[in-house]
Amino acid sequence: MKKRTVIFCLPLLALLASATAAQAPAQSAAIMAIKAGRLVDPETGTAIANQVILVEGEKIMSVGANLAIPAGATVIDLSNLTVLPGLVDAHTHMAITYKEQPENNYYYLTYVMDSTPLRAIQAASNGIQLLNSGFTVIRDVGNNALYADTALRQAIEQGWLPGPTVIPSGIIIGGAGGQFWPTPEMYKQHNIVYPEYIDANSHDEIVRAIRENMLFGARTIKLCIDCKPWGYSVEDIKLAISEAAKGGCKVEGHVQTPEGAQRAIDAGIYIIAHGNALTPEHHRQMAEKGIFLAGTDTPFTKYRGSEAAFKQTVAKLRDAWEKKVPLTFSTDFDYWNERMKDEKTGEWMSRGDLTIAFLDTWKAANIPPADILRAITINGYKAADIIKERGPIKPGLFADLIAVAGDPLTDIDALRNVRFVMKNGAVFKKDGVMTPEKFFHPGPVRIPSGRYTR
Ligand SMILES: [Zn+2]
Repeated sequence: MKKRTVIFCLPLLALLASATAAQAPAQSAAIMAIKAGRLVDPETGTAIANQVILVEGEKIMSVGANLAIPAGATVIDLSNLTVLPGLVDAHTHMAITYKEQPENNYYYLTYVMDSTPLRAIQAASNGIQLLNSGFTVIRDVGNNALYADTALRQAIEQGWLPGPTVIPSGIIIGGAGGQFWPTPEMYKQHNIVYPEYIDANSHDEIVRAIRENMLFGARTIKLCIDCKPWGYSVEDIKLAISEAAKGGCKVEGHVQTPEGAQRAIDAGIYIIAHGNALTPEHHRQMAEKGIFLAGTDTPFTKYRGSEAAFKQTVAKLRDAWEKKVPLTFSTDFDYWNERMKDEKTGEWMSRGDLTIAFLDTWKAANIPPADILRAITINGYKAADIIKERGPIKPGLFADLIAVAGDPLTDIDALRNVRFVMKNGAVFKKDGVMTPEKFFHPGPVRIPSGRYTR
């Protein structure tokens, strides 16, 4: 009798414990209680004061004003900071760094001089630097040698090292040549285009290329829509979208001509990368169809860009915002030079500093801080197609969050100084200092289920 009572009561107790956590706190060492001075919801562009976020293991358990903190929970006091979801760079390149020396910014040469292993290690370092600046998700869309991007995702996921959640595309798929113009001997005798690009010149080849990328760990597919005059037709793009969907992947199109943009829009592509070739009419259609823009909006700085290009970028971004295109924050970062130093301190800027500096373009376009914040968080999660798993600070989702001084809803520059970072429920940065010890392991402590599938 006694035994039966116990058996029947346990599930009920468990239910009660989770439903009434505030009244009957469970004893658990794995619970963290974050006291947030202010908690921002970028979806609505609002903030509420004095919230408590309970984190159990890797996930958010509950969020509210008067939550009882369970006995034994670790309390993290961020009551003088603003807590918000982690940031997203929706178009970047982690495993290529072209330089003025020795390759004169010509990534053709980077590709023949920097090996895949070297580039994978660069990617690992870039990931740590980006996480330090609050980027908890990045879309890594090609030019990553032989799958350094999917390897980075796996390494972070398995617990070898800290880094953002990587949404890798694998190798960029394009028609003959990709973005290169190789010599016949390099193309025919040395297959020089691969692995920076997969040549896919027919429907069969497009299907094969997408399947190969997904087999090797891609979570999104990147197409060169119009890198060459032959480009991809609406029919080609539609085929790519349906093939990618079989592996749970959405398609991003690199676009550099108005005609290419129109074909990508007509095919119903998920994301258009690069805003330069887009017209107001394209923006109108993208807004209507809900196509994300990863504009890659480079600011004009002493280390990059020109005033004329910047003016055009700002005007295009402004028009896309006015037309209500779903905007993401995106950089296309893949370069380095010796001028990338902080003007005040003379210190090297980190990859995170260089990435968040793209806020300059958004500010120049006079986009309201709440809308910039939505682009760099919520729209990024949607474009990365992970919003049901991580991003918003809501119960059941992965605990990825950051904290800054000040109020990013009125002053977006607050994002330039991230004081606290939590990734998957573990503290990566506290009081402005990296504390990454818990992220390093000599073996795979987490074997993700369905490594190559959703
Ligand atoms: Zn790019």
